[in-house]
Amino acid sequence: MSDWEEEYDEDGVAIAGPSPVVSAQRTEWRPPSSFGSKGSVYLGGKFGVNEQRNESDWRNLRNQHGDTNPTDHLMCSDPDSGRGRRGGGSRSGTGRPVLLSVENSLIGRVIGRGGVKIRELQESSGARIKINRGDYEGEVLIFGSSDVQQKAKDMIEELISGSASGPRFNSGSERSGVRSKSCWPASSLQTSAGTATAPIDWTSIRENRQKYETMKWQDLPPLKKNFYIEAKSVASRSAEEVTAWRKENNNIFVDDLKEEDKRVIPNPVYTFQEAFDHYPGIMENIQRVGFQKPTPIQSQAWPIVLQGLDLIGIAQTGTGKTLSYLLPGFIHMDQQPVRRDKKSGPGMLVLTPTRELALQIEAECNKYSYKGFKSICVYGGGDRRAQIKMVTSGVDIVIATPGRLNDLQMNELINLRSITYLVLDEADRMLDMGFEPQIMKIILDIRPDRQTVMTSATWPAGVRRLARSYLKDPMMVYVGTLDLAAVNTVQQTVLFVQEEEKKAYVFDFIHNMEPLDKVLIFVGKKIVADDLSSDLCLRGVAVQSLHGDREQCDREEALQDFKDGRVRILVATDLASRGLDVHDITHVFNYDFPRNIEEYVHRVGRTGRAGRSGASVTLVTREDWRWAAELIHILERAGQEVPEELVLMAERYDKHQREKEMFPAKSRGGGGGGGGGGSRGARENGGGVWGRKEGRNRGESNWHF
Ligand code: ADP
Ligand code: MG
Repeated sequence: MSDWEEEYDEDGVAIAGPSPVVSAQRTEWRPPSSFGSKGSVYLGGKFGVNEQRNESDWRNLRNQHGDTNPTDHLMCSDPDSGRGRRGGGSRSGTGRPVLLSVENSLIGRVIGRGGVKIRELQESSGARIKINRGDYEGEVLIFGSSDVQQKAKDMIEELISGSASGPRFNSGSERSGVRSKSCWPASSLQTSAGTATAPIDWTSIRENRQKYETMKWQDLPPLKKNFYIEAKSVASRSAEEVTAWRKENNNIFVDDLKEEDKRVIPNPVYTFQEAFDHYPGIMENIQRVGFQKPTPIQSQAWPIVLQGLDLIGIAQTGTGKTLSYLLPGFIHMDQQPVRRDKKSGPGMLVLTPTRELALQIEAECNKYSYKGFKSICVYGGGDRRAQIKMVTSGVDIVIATPGRLNDLQMNELINLRSITYLVLDEADRMLDMGFEPQIMKIILDIRPDRQTVMTSATWPAGVRRLARSYLKDPMMVYVGTLDLAAVNTVQQTVLFVQEEEKKAYVFDFIHNMEPLDKVLIFVGKKIVADDLSSDLCLRGVAVQSLHGDREQCDREEALQDFKDGRVRILVATDLASRGLDVHDITHVFNYDFPRNIEEYVHRVGRTGRAGRSGASVTLVTREDWRWAAELIHILERAGQEVPEELVLMAERYDKHQREKEMFPAKSRGGGGGGGGGGSRGARENGGGVWGRKEGRNRGESNWHF
């Protein structure tokens, strides 16, 4: 499966890709890019950044999280003394620039508000300085004689480490770490050589860090978090009754993850009234949309979140997790002691993995609009200028994908200090290695006493520990099981095929579609999405495609066409596997098996939402044999039929693994071999095989709306 193409989010973060190396260091020498190229910033001239708040000391510490060296973010390159230069030694009066690579996150410090710092730098050092902004890091080019270059470079290093304008960590030894990697001529480094060998005083570094953490968060406006008034009917429920109710409602389990002094686990609410009786605006909204009663996750999550506690909420796809955090979030924002018009920025931030999901949540915010809260979707591919304008003109709720938010944050165009209610939707996805570094940066600027809610339908062991570091004494609610489980309202069919047969299967499926069927076809690669959708177009089938290489406007149009029923077939990569709520999808067709088993659960969950029923068809080739065992578990948990061929495939794979362990040399290069078979006759079976006839009304949910 090594040839699987990466699916990228809007800002180049690989979705479910291999773990990128998380490193703040930039150590490579790179030649300066040509001046005046796209993205370069003229320094000393006008710099139209719309700032929202005063620069303060804590800001200089942004990147001192952990015991990392602040100046590690900056690497110096002297193009003349680096690779490719004949000879060496110091030069005086040379016109060649010195190049420093600086992470985008720190460029703002060099420039200063309105370009003030850079002008000061130029005036005091006598050097001319230019900045080229890149996607992830910028280049600072210093022109002038070697003396003034050195002076400017030192000053920039000071700025980056935070020492010029505010408190600093222990200096000499830390900075020597940068210098030893630097290619700056040795003679220029002599002044700091004396301190290079000084032992690092970690105790003092930690103390300082603690001190500056405190300083960073002083003067925050007061925060209120508990708004729960338990209804008498809820309080009077006996323990036995509550246990029985949780069992009946998809087996809800609640756990207090606080280490000691465990808290009372609140009783669930059975009705909207019990949760929101004191908030008529919320009740009106619910009545307007006509929901009958809370879903299980809502029943149990609301009493916890309304109390101001952090929550991890895990429940099947399509069971109303969005409202489980949105409605308490509205109340939280409305009840803050600081008046809205006195706030310096948004109060609620919802982070999501894809643009489409961000837009969908924004639409939900607007649908349940409460007290006139203004929300904005901040996402890559969207109009950056317009987003900045909106953000700076004052919004209450920001729904964002991490890349674009990071961009605004690092350019100091958004104030995250005002956020008091933070949500990570599809939290396991947000915390995997693709996004986590960005999330980490974002969270550094959000006050630590905030309320944090995480939700998902899957909660793999790999993210559980990590998640805890972003939450404070959370409660955890899971509906059903923490093991991987697909929603039980979807009839899941597995078909065994050869790779080259896949197209015939999908054409056959489409040929058998009924007028009201709507199918989401998942493929593994963007190129396959293009290929399959153009093949279908050529056959006169109305189809749209959705993947990360399409223009944002095309992506939005594709999804809208599918939602509105202008097309009933959407071919998509896993970009569409998370969170999307298109209520009338009748079928999910897994043309390619997903790259991880969690995505299988999420893909299947695009149908059978909110208690409706749906069907999924998954094509499995011999290449997919390693997923067989986990797929069996998912099918079993959802009460689905497990095909004999899948069991054999799992056994073959298990045997192969054991052989590989025992005879590593023999099995090298073996791969594949999952065994085909089982496919014949599948297509001849008529509609039934597609989960259509028997699937449409099967799998009734045991909870109803
Ligand atoms: P999830 O995030 O759990 O996958 P969503 O929050 O997207 O699910 O909700 C799925 C659908 O269920 C949405 O269309 C939403 O409007 C609807 N929904 C949410 N809460 C309720 C409820 N209490 N009763 C009926 N439908 C609901
Ligand atoms: Mg959701």
